[in-house]
Amino acid sequence: MKNEDVFLQSAPLLEKLEQAGFEAYYVGGAVRDYLLQRPIGDVDIATSARPEEVKSVFPKTVDVGIEHGTVLVIWKGDGYEMTTFRTESDYKDYRHPETVSFVRSLTEDLQRRDFTMNAIAMDRSGRIIDPFNGQQALANKEIQTVGEASERFSEDALRMMRAARFVSQLGFRLHPHTTAALKKHASLLQHIAVERKLNEMEKLFAGANKNKGMEVLMKAGLHTYLPGLIDQEAAIEKLLSFSFDHLSSNQMWLLLLRLLNHPSPKAFLSEWRMPAQKIKYVTRALQLLDKRDTQPWSAVFLYEAGMESAIDVEIVHSLLYGREAEVEELTERYAQLAIKSLHELAVSGKDLLVWKQEKGGPWMKQYLAEIECAVVERKVENSKEKIKEWLESCNLL
Ligand code: ATP
Ligand code: MG
Repeated sequence: MKNEDVFLQSAPLLEKLEQAGFEAYYVGGAVRDYLLQRPIGDVDIATSARPEEVKSVFPKTVDVGIEHGTVLVIWKGDGYEMTTFRTESDYKDYRHPETVSFVRSLTEDLQRRDFTMNAIAMDRSGRIIDPFNGQQALANKEIQTVGEASERFSEDALRMMRAARFVSQLGFRLHPHTTAALKKHASLLQHIAVERKLNEMEKLFAGANKNKGMEVLMKAGLHTYLPGLIDQEAAIEKLLSFSFDHLSSNQMWLLLLRLLNHPSPKAFLSEWRMPAQKIKYVTRALQLLDKRDTQPWSAVFLYEAGMESAIDVEIVHSLLYGREAEVEELTERYAQLAIKSLHELAVSGKDLLVWKQEKGGPWMKQYLAEIECAVVERKVENSKEKIKEWLESCNLL
C-alpha cells in the first residue's frame, strides 16, 4: 500500500478521537519513514485519551499493554496501536521505567522517545509537530538522542542497540555525542533481556546497511554484551571485511557462525534465544556450507540441501571465496532435478515388499535411499518399471 493510503485509511480513527474531545497524532517510525519517503510499516498513534477513554470511543479494542497506555483498536479488519501520551520516570536497572504517567501534552510524550527522528508527530491533515528538530536530523541523515545521550542510554540501554539497527535500516550516521555515549555506556547492555537484543539484531540484519550497523556495534564495544560475541573481535573484524549488505538474516547468521568457528553453533544460537526452527535451519545450513568447501554442487548435493538452503549456502560461500554467486544457475538446476523429495519417488516400501517377497526391515530404507540417489543422479528413470529393471540389473531383486 502507498504511504499516503496508509495514513488515509487510519485518518478516521484520529478524527473519531478528536470528535470525542481528544488529540491524536501519528508518531514514531511511520512519520519518520513517511518523511524519508520510505515504505512505512505499522502506524503508531499517540493520543491524549486515556486507555479507558480510547476504549469508550471504539467498539472493538484489545488490551495489549494497558499499563503502558497501549490499546489495540480493530478497525475495518486491521489493528492500530494507540498509546496514551505518557512520560516515563524512575528507570530501574537500565531497562524499564518504574513509573509511567499519562499526560495530556504531546510534547512531553515526544520527549520520552529515543531519537529526534523518532520524536516527530503528524496530525491527520499532514501538519508536522517537531519540537526536537527531528526533520533536521533526517535532512542531515543523523541519529541523535532526544536530550542528553548518556542519560537516555542509562535510562534504557536497549536504545544503544536501536541506534545501531537504525544505522543499518537507514544508512544514517550517529551524532558525535551519540557515538561517545555509546562507547561510554556499552556495558549497560548487559542488563537487557536477550529477547530484546535478538529483536534488534534481526532488524539490524534486515537492514540495507548492515556493514555500517555492525561497525557501530563493534566500535562501541556493544558486541561484548551480546551472546557469544565477547572476545570475538578478530572474527567480527573479519566479518566486517566482507560486503554483506545484500545478505538475508539467515545468511548473516550463517556467515557469522562460520567466522566465529563456535564449538557448538546450536548452543550459540540457543543463547540468543532464537526460535528452535531457525536454529535448526541455520545449523544445518552451516553443515552444508562446510560440505560445500569440499565439493561443488552435484545433483545429489542440491537435492539433499533443498532450494532455500542451497541458495543461502551458495551466497555465503561465494562471499567467503570472493566469487560471483551463481544463484540463477543453481535455481535452474534445482528445477530440473528428477525429484525434489522422497515422496516423489515412483516406488514405495510396499512395492519393494511385493517385488522381493521378503519381510520388511531396515533393508527397505537402504534400498529406497539407493533408488533415491540413482534417480537424482539420473542413472534410472523415475518410473516403477524402470526402477524394477534397474534393481534387477544390480542383482538387488
Ligand atoms: P520500526 O517500526 O520501523 O522498526 P520504529 O521507530 O517505529 O521503527 P518501534 O520499536 O516500533 O520503532 O517504536 C515506535 C516508537 O516508539 C519509536 O519511533 C520511538 O519514538 C518510540 N520508542 C520505541 N522504543 C523506544 C525506547 N526503547 N526508548 C524510547 N523510545 C522508544
Ligand atoms: Mg514501529
